[in-house]
Amino acid sequence: MLNVLFSAAPKDWDKYRDAIVTALAGAGLETDLRRDHAAENVDYIVYAPSGATLDFTPFTRCKAVLSLWAGVETIITNTTLTQPLARMVDPGMTAGMVEYVCGHVLRHHLGMDRDILRRDTNWQPHDPPLAQDRPVTILGLGELGLAAAQALASLGFAVTGWSRTAKSAPGLRCLHGTDGLWQALTGAQIVVLLLPDTGPTRNILNPETLALTATGAVIINPGRGVLIDDAALLAALDSGQIGHATLDVFRSEPLPPDHAYWAHPHVTVTPHIASGTRPRTAAEVIADNIRRGETGEPFLHLVGRERGY
Ligand code: NAP
Repeated sequence: MLNVLFSAAPKDWDKYRDAIVTALAGAGLETDLRRDHAAENVDYIVYAPSGATLDFTPFTRCKAVLSLWAGVETIITNTTLTQPLARMVDPGMTAGMVEYVCGHVLRHHLGMDRDILRRDTNWQPHDPPLAQDRPVTILGLGELGLAAAQALASLGFAVTGWSRTAKSAPGLRCLHGTDGLWQALTGAQIVVLLLPDTGPTRNILNPETLALTATGAVIINPGRGVLIDDAALLAALDSGQIGHATLDVFRSEPLPPDHAYWAHPHVTVTPHIASGTRPRTAAEVIADNIRRGETGEPFLHLVGRERGY
């Protein structure tokens, strides 16, 4: 019998319990999933920063910590965590992110607001542009960025992806490194941020990099709030260098009511809903990783402490 500790917000227990129990049984594992195991008896921890666990030292026989979240910036700096840490890579979450990104890219590409928000009776035909004429750049070509890039490319967009290490993917222009960032942003009309929060990615959109995009470019950020220098973005919106920003994540969440983003006419705020972890598919990923731990196979989706994601 394996003892699995569920350490996340109390509301998550109702959301995930049945799915995880079902997936663990489906993986042929005999487990006891609870919120209150004695630390020294725990084999695995299903973890979210919203839970109570701050000190991992007493979990002496714990073989892995399995994050319910894709972003691990709040746990990676915890020096008591010496066990392997797997982040969440969930096919359901990936599908949700692809839908969010494609929906918001198409909104801006087609200028949908013009007709949807119209309150007058002006009949003014306009030619919808073609995706092939719209350069879209995705910063971050990982699980989510690559899937979004491929979906946009399949719609015909001219997609450039940027990552830390060199990559290649059919139908995408793949760039990396500092020179690659400059090339990726130069002339981009829509920029999507799907980078993790690490030292090198903070304020990656700043006065210098925002100036590289096409005039009137759109920024879509479902990555992390710290990727954007907020003052620089607001200045670029006011000058017209950036035409619109659709922002899902913020330095401080919930976004404070007096934040300039709420009232800005060229900013769309979504409340960190781009794509949440989906219990059923995520539970299967968790169960598979526990099965791997028990059969001596390497864990999937391990976080690289040195690289920070
Ligand atoms: P991932 O698979 O780890 O991919 C991260 C990508 O960023 C990789 O392509 C990586 O490059 C690149 N990268 C990291 N540091 C870089 C740097 N210094 N310079 C250039 N590229 C760099 O992560 P993911 O699963 O796609 O998730 C991305 C982020 O999305 C998460 O960290 C989280 O913050 C955010 N997220 C948000 C929501 C939401 O609802 N808003 C939901 C889920 C996730 P390499 O490929 O070379 O490693």
